[in-house]
Amino acid sequence: MLFDTHLHLDLFTDPKKLIEAIEKQKIYTIAVTNLPQVFLNTQKLCEGLKYIRPALGYHPELAFKFSNQFDLFLELIDQTRYIGEIGLDNQRKTIEDFTSQKKIFENIISVCRERKDKILTVHSRRAEKEVVSIIGNNFPGKVILHWYSGSLNYLENALSYGYYFSVNSAMSQSKNGINIIKNIPLNRLLLESDSPFIGVDKNSVEPYDMKSIIANISNIKQLSTSEINTALNQNFKTLVL
Ligand SMILES: [Zn+2]
Repeated sequence: MLFDTHLHLDLFTDPKKLIEAIEKQKIYTIAVTNLPQVFLNTQKLCEGLKYIRPALGYHPELAFKFSNQFDLFLELIDQTRYIGEIGLDNQRKTIEDFTSQKKIFENIISVCRERKDKILTVHSRRAEKEVVSIIGNNFPGKVILHWYSGSLNYLENALSYGYYFSVNSAMSQSKNGINIIKNIPLNRLLLESDSPFIGVDKNSVEPYDMKSIIANISNIKQLSTSEINTALNQNFKTLVL
């Protein structure tokens, strides 16, 4: 079984062609979106598909500029169990921007808390501390920290709160990423492509080869690819249970 917990389907030039390939290769996929206003389009693309699920998102790097879409987010929240891409980003952001992001993210977490069964895919660049503290312990759903790049302290906190971590090809080849992967226990590890930002570009009609990430993780963890695969599949099943 193959899966991809973070793919930006709607950022591809020909999403329909890509969808065909994903369905054919049977890759269970969470198709994240970056704003409430584009969710319906991705939902439509995913209608009737077996392997791809649309996620309702509010990307932190767009949240300040499009801060007026929270009402729409609320209107759409019950249309899907998957929420993402959401989160916080504090790389070269003004205080005003980051404050606006935080407000929106807190509101999103609060409504997801009420719904109880949401699965979140969360961005946390340079804001790991705030992301972990806002979601906190005992979140009544599932949390995936996507492309985590922060300190091992907050990673420890996130693990103790039960979060998962989705790892991509860039992480599995960078020094910091490899160190992070070493510190994520096997039972919290998931895979993501984060395409078209990495792996394949937006003109591709073929999904990124997720098996290559498994091979890299196998090297990093010093375990066989079949051991890694078994653990990943179990994690994905537990995630969507
Ligand atoms: Zn992303």
